[in-house]
Amino acid sequence: MQDFILVLNAGSSSLKFALFRGKSELIQILAGAIERIGQDNSELIMKMPAKTSGHHRSVSAKDHASCLDAVLGEIVPLLEGSELTAIGHRIVHGGPRYLDPQFVTPTLLEELGRLSPYDPDHLPGEIALIEAICNRHPKLPQVACFDTAFHQTMPRIAKLLPIPRRFEAQGVQRYGFHGLSYAYLIEELVRLDDPAATKGRVILAHLGNGASMTAVRDGKSVDTSMGFTPASGLVMGTRSGDLDPGLVSYLAHTEQMTPTQFQSMVNHESGLLGISETSSDMRELLEHESEDVRAAEAVALFCYQAKKWIGSFAAALGGLDTLVFAGGIGENSPVVRSRICEGLSFLGIEVHEASNADPAGLISTSASRVCIRVIHTDEELMIARSVIRAVDLH
Ligand code: ADP
Repeated sequence: MQDFILVLNAGSSSLKFALFRGKSELIQILAGAIERIGQDNSELIMKMPAKTSGHHRSVSAKDHASCLDAVLGEIVPLLEGSELTAIGHRIVHGGPRYLDPQFVTPTLLEELGRLSPYDPDHLPGEIALIEAICNRHPKLPQVACFDTAFHQTMPRIAKLLPIPRRFEAQGVQRYGFHGLSYAYLIEELVRLDDPAATKGRVILAHLGNGASMTAVRDGKSVDTSMGFTPASGLVMGTRSGDLDPGLVSYLAHTEQMTPTQFQSMVNHESGLLGISETSSDMRELLEHESEDVRAAEAVALFCYQAKKWIGSFAAALGGLDTLVFAGGIGENSPVVRSRICEGLSFLGIEVHEASNADPAGLISTSASRVCIRVIHTDEELMIARSVIRAVDLH
């Protein structure tokens, strides 16, 4: 019998899914997403297998749990008569307690419910989806993989937030996110025989709609730009990243802005979208930067802040051996990579522009002290690998 692992990655208004076959070698045989969940125009988009690729169709998806029929409808024909071995979920927040992948149990679900206020944009939808599967397929193992887990190794000083100490006891600390992507990138560096992966100083830059950076020493996270929630750190598509905390009371007084409105503004109306007033999409902004100063400023701010984070993490690491770009922007935009790295030769960062324009992995010059790489990240594969390990150990 073949093993089949379904991976579900629930975003705030989307559900990405992927099906893998195999065990020691996992082969992805399906990828798709349901987008605009909760709106009238929800859509299922298939990316693979080849014969369904590019296919769009309307689906009824009032919430994450109601997407299940559509997802199972796509995967069942590919199971060759077998049952699913397990389902792996990306869970954005594991709080202070959950580090390794966990089998879903009633206790875990209760604990995730308690963690919901940590990330009200993501956790409730993720929990509802797991519960819907428990109700329909109570025997099917489900494994929760936490985006916060990779950062468990950060030293205490990197985790501490400088507010009154009593909040730490309630779990208020820097957690960091994109951990599944970072774990995958480190596995890739090992596979590529980059010595810095196990013994050295690495900065991993995951630059997509959500963007963060992580400083890694000897394969372990020692600091990261996101904090208690994924809203902090770098400028992102619609998230502000780090802000002056004084803004909260200023806007409360001048605009009567409530905490909910503030939360919505910094998560959904800020970042590239807020600055450009037109788009959160880097590709679109690059297309318009020559005629729209707002688009140009959004791109410039993104690159400038990314450069500052590299400088900050190089200082924290005491130098740098390898810099990795990943995520939709990091993997696909030579111009953004080039602008971020511009002027960083004092850190040993020197981009080879021809390799950068058409990257096949390494984009640094032979004289560059820092090895600069572009790596396609794969959070879904990382989850599938984690599920196989958990099921095998069980
Ligand atoms: P998510 O965080 O939602 O997974 P992605 O990693 O898919 O996001 O990244 C999406 C971002 O990548 C968007 O801003 C998009 O414009 C950007 N992007 C994708 N391709 C390119 C490209 N060729 N040039 C510049 N930006 C790109």
